[in-house]
Amino acid sequence: TQIPVITIDGPSGSGKGTVSRLLAEKLDWHLLDSGAIYRVLALAALHHDFTVDDEQSLAALASDLDVKFEADKEEALTHIILEGEDVTLTIRTEKVGNMASKIAALPRVREALLRRQRAFKELPGLVADGRDMGTVVFTDADAKVFLTASAEERAERRYKQLLEKGFDANIDQLITEIKERDDRDTNRPVAPLKPADDALYLDSTELSVEQVLEQILTFAHSKL
Ligand code: C5P
Repeated sequence: TQIPVITIDGPSGSGKGTVSRLLAEKLDWHLLDSGAIYRVLALAALHHDFTVDDEQSLAALASDLDVKFEADKEEALTHIILEGEDVTLTIRTEKVGNMASKIAALPRVREALLRRQRAFKELPGLVADGRDMGTVVFTDADAKVFLTASAEERAERRYKQLLEKGFDANIDQLITEIKERDDRDTNRPVAPLKPADDALYLDSTELSVEQVLEQILTFAHSKL
């Protein structure tokens, strides 16, 4: 049986996370939040005091990572458990995000995470959210979307998200960090952030979540 896959790639704060979750819920498909895997790895690396230049240890850590994703339908979120500890909230800090984007530039780390990500492809289907879902991990996906928005709009969204989660945030610092992260994700030699050739390119700066979701659903239906 063919297992359908929709990939949603884009920079941080583009709304991919929310849109992917809603899409997976609507279709009743599985969801892969690949950024969360890089974030969990970053948190584990910070715990172990590994530095970014220690690619060998980081790749080994990536292969052995004891992480579980436990969907909680009532709370509409997935609990992420690292070595038995619930790290759902701790992996969302900017510190962990920045470390994640540094680690994510290492080819051996990305390689080590491929199989883990592909294992999410199960019936009845998968919505995969990340940077390279359509370009590397699921190249044969049925429908590929590249979702973006201006850096200022994305910083604004991240700012609200962080406050809602009870974290402190500074908007100017967020804009700077988002641009730095974009730069790193876009210019790295391995699996750089870029739209797949066959992706639907969607700029969500002026769109609501509902509008984005509707456009993606229409596109996906035309492909499935
Ligand atoms: O999407 P999120 O902000 O959670 O991702 C954290 C970091 O993980 C990104 O900045 C990016 O460097 C990395 N990442 C990646 N490939 C993916 C998903 C995330 O390189 N598929």
